[in-house]
Amino acid sequence: MSTGILDTIARVREEVCALHAELTRYELVVWTAGNVSARVPGHELMVIKPSGVSYQDLTPEQMVVTDLYGVPVPGDATGEWGNPALSPSSDTAAHAYVYRHMPEVGGVVHTHSTYATAWAARGESIPCVLTMMSDEFGGSIPVGPFALIGDDSIGHGIVETLKNSNSPAVLMQNHGPFTIGKDAKSAVKAAVMCEEVARTVHIARQLGEPIAIDQSHIDSLYARYQNVYGQ
Ligand SMILES: [Zn+2]
Repeated sequence: MSTGILDTIARVREEVCALHAELTRYELVVWTAGNVSARVPGHELMVIKPSGVSYQDLTPEQMVVTDLYGVPVPGDATGEWGNPALSPSSDTAAHAYVYRHMPEVGGVVHTHSTYATAWAARGESIPCVLTMMSDEFGGSIPVGPFALIGDDSIGHGIVETLKNSNSPAVLMQNHGPFTIGKDAKSAVKAAVMCEEVARTVHIARQLGEPIAIDQSHIDSLYARYQNVYGQ
């Protein structure tokens, strides 16, 4: 094993570990129910949160390295990569499916953040009624199919919904949001923004019907924002 890959994995582990603090900072998760993963650039590998470890106890070394089918890589003789003592998150198969089928994706996040999950519970997409939604999501935030955990059906639902959408977020019906990005930080940002707009549009709804934005305006806002901030 070359030092190159070990250095890369160490860096990705630190990044993925640190980003979990953003999930608690923005109150997107309770207990251990949310996770961040990142693709290991240049390798058929990903790094993801271990299952069942509290956010405040996470360390970079605990982040689990798996292949793109979610199978942990065996630790080498010195144990400096791969951590067979910890199992990867129970959502690993869904993250892995996304990396296999969306080569442009470098990061995936899953939470049960309250407002976004409330829209998912109704199976209702979040309409694009805010300029910040046009900027970040390029339209409404779509709903993905109901899917049971345990096979590829969640991953398949995420990919089928997002591949024809500008949105980096999908609300899996009766479940919650999954978000993607060019890297893990972008996917975390999408998770934070998804919850923010879910909350704001929910509140707007309480006193009336939010005003839709013309598609042409959505398109120009999205093009401008993505050009300026580089998606
Ligand atoms: Zn979940």
